[in-house]
Amino acid sequence: MAKKTLEDCPPETLADQVVVVRVDYNLPLNRDGEVVDDTRLVRTLPTIQYLVEAGAKAVLLSHLGRPGGRPDPALSLRPVAGKLEEFLGYPVGFCPMTTGPQAQEAVQRMKSGEVLLLENTRFCPEDARNDAEWAEEISFGTKLFVNDAFGTAHRAHASTQGVAHAVRRGGGGAVAGFLLERELRFLSDAMADPEHPFVTIIGGAKISNKIDVIEALLPAVDRLLIGGAMANTFFKAHGWAVGDSLVEEDRIDTARRLMDLAGDKLLLPVDVLTAPSITSDVSTCVSACDEVGEAQHIGDIGPRTAELFIDVVGGARTVIWSGPMGVFELAPFRSGTFEVARAAASTADRGATVIVGGGDSAAAAVAAGVVDRITHVSTGGSASLEFLSGNEMPGVAALSDR
Ligand code: ADP
Ligand code: MG
Repeated sequence: MAKKTLEDCPPETLADQVVVVRVDYNLPLNRDGEVVDDTRLVRTLPTIQYLVEAGAKAVLLSHLGRPGGRPDPALSLRPVAGKLEEFLGYPVGFCPMTTGPQAQEAVQRMKSGEVLLLENTRFCPEDARNDAEWAEEISFGTKLFVNDAFGTAHRAHASTQGVAHAVRRGGGGAVAGFLLERELRFLSDAMADPEHPFVTIIGGAKISNKIDVIEALLPAVDRLLIGGAMANTFFKAHGWAVGDSLVEEDRIDTARRLMDLAGDKLLLPVDVLTAPSITSDVSTCVSACDEVGEAQHIGDIGPRTAELFIDVVGGARTVIWSGPMGVFELAPFRSGTFEVARAAASTADRGATVIVGGGDSAAAAVAAGVVDRITHVSTGGSASLEFLSGNEMPGVAALSDR
């Protein structure tokens, strides 16, 4: 990698040092505010353990949710400190302030080998504003900043980019943690020199979220499979009725342009699963894509499409998958996504590189029970799409060069 990583920092240089680490503990919460998936936290453990074993004082910064620059008790990181403590097996300090005298004191009181999590950086408006003075404050005079927050690396915020600049201005270094390094390695290897056939599966709710990544991947891929609600807009572009399904009327031209651009590479669904409503207790019907009835909702790809997609994925040597094939959260509409997930896992079992990017696709891989067989499940939702689209990530660009 062109950027320095934690591997460039031998343990003996870290003993007794304050090291500031940006992690991404923006964990998905349910309606009761409970953490539903702790993958992002678990993946940071190697970085934290490395620092603890080296005898450093690890000060962790993260955001959680979108509190909009104001404290919001529902988005406090305090429960996350408890979770981290369970995984590490030793105490993790928590400071209810992110900056100011209380935070400074908490950092000053730390002993060698201790871990301290500060309160949600986005309780402070300065974070998203990338305020340089505030970035200086959250650097706590450290000589080493570690960015291990891939999911936030596409944001130029004070706790991602600003703090790296502040530490480097002060003569220190800014490096990638083990999680960030792994993400960049897998995603850039897949992009730089993919083994063919190279297949991309794009699904999910909206074309608008994924145009950039489709356009960036198109020249390199052999097949582009499209499912999910996104396919509906392509059906519309063909002039087919989609009933009451989710459609982006203002993206029909985009769909048309992508169809021209992709030519034979593009594989759209040939059949879909429809129902009178997208709810958990409806009975579904299979329709050809050009025969969707009035007042019907498309909720998943159909069985013939699943077979087609499974076949293409089965022959691939590189697969990038972003976006579910249907409303997999609801039992009647989960089978298309699960079948594609299982096909991707089988392909990975045979030695292909399979990368899953996107928060909901990662959740679908977990729900389908195949997550452990996938080569790399990215922890960055939109961050992985930004990276795959070829956009610069300010949080990475700000790190020290090798
Ligand atoms: P990811 O997070 O993997 O990038 P997206 O956020 O783009 O995926 O899209 C995921 C969402 O798309 C899911 O909540 C899923 O229910 C929804 N979705 C997929 N297919 C359909 C469909 N046919 N109709 C409505 N919503 C859909
Ligand atoms: Mg999503």
